[in-house]
Formats: sequence, C-alpha cells, structure tokens
Amino acid sequence: MNVIGVKKHINKLYKDIYKIIKNEFVTILNSVYQEIYDEAIALGFDGELRNLDEAWIEEFFGKYSPVTKYVFSNEIDRKESYLFEAIVSDPSFSLQSYAKAERLLVGQIKQYAIELEDDIAKVVYEDTGVEKVQWVAKIDYKTCSDCGGLNGEIFDLDEAPEKQHYGCRCYLIPVKE
Ligand SMILES: [Zn+2]
Repeated sequence: MNVIGVKKHINKLYKDIYKIIKNEFVTILNSVYQEIYDEAIALGFDGELRNLDEAWIEEFFGKYSPVTKYVFSNEIDRKESYLFEAIVSDPSFSLQSYAKAERLLVGQIKQYAIELEDDIAKVVYEDTGVEKVQWVAKIDYKTCSDCGGLNGEIFDLDEAPEKQHYGCRCYLIPVKE
C-alpha cells in the first residue's frame, strides 16, 4: 500500500469535509440568530440586530466545549489521524474504517449543531438585554436527575450552566422581570 498516498488522500478528504461543515454552519448562523431574536422581541426585549459572520464560526470551532471536552477543529484533526491509522494498520478493513469514521464525525457535527444554537441564543440574549434565563428540561422517562433538578431554575445569563451531557435536550428561555 502507498502509505503517503493514503495520507494525502485522507488529508484532502478531511480538509474538504471541514470546509463543507464550516460553510453549512455559516449558512444556518444568521437564520438561527434571526429566529431567536424574533422570539426575544416577541417577549418584549429589544436591541440591535447583529450580523454574525464566518469569523464567529471560526472562533466557535476553536473554543473548548465542556460537554464534548474538546475543541472542534482539533478534534477534526484527531479524527483524521484516527482514520489514517486504522486504514494503514489494517488495509483490508478500509471500508469499515470509513464507516466508523463517518459515524464519529456525524456525532460530532450533531452535538455542535446543538451547541451552536445555545451559543447563538446567548449572543441574542446579550444583544437584546436579557439578564435572566430559565432552564427548561424535557421531562419524560429519559430525563436524568441533573437535568430534572435544574428544570425551572432561573439564572443570571452569564452564570447559566452549560448543557449537562451529550444528548442533553435542555435549553434556556429568557425571563422577563
Ligand atoms: Zn439536559
């Protein structure tokens, strides 16, 4: 097997994927902002609309997440190395390696789509003068005790806890005083 060729191929693949993910996130950025902004305005808050750009996404991908416990852009590199090593160590399992790499990456993207919405909500709340937010948990048989315990709690915006775990379905709503 041409190991250098494989490395080049994987590297190009992950560069292309990263570019696509970034473009997708930039595209949804302002529509999500607008949606949350409209909700805040409907509740009686007010402030100037902001235009979030690619630089904002770059920063978002470059910061540490307490939920995933990694930095998005570093993790893409780590996943690239993982796939390269999996293929080189066992070329006959290349297809399975690709399938697993895809699953891991899709999981990462899904989690960050959720985090993106949380981060945008915080920007909107800052922009529209929201000072207090309320934790809302989805209550059903899957609700964990951490999330259930936080349900209904009110926090200062800058002290609101992060999502509690992977797949956490809780969110924050603005509180009008
Ligand atoms: Zn939760």
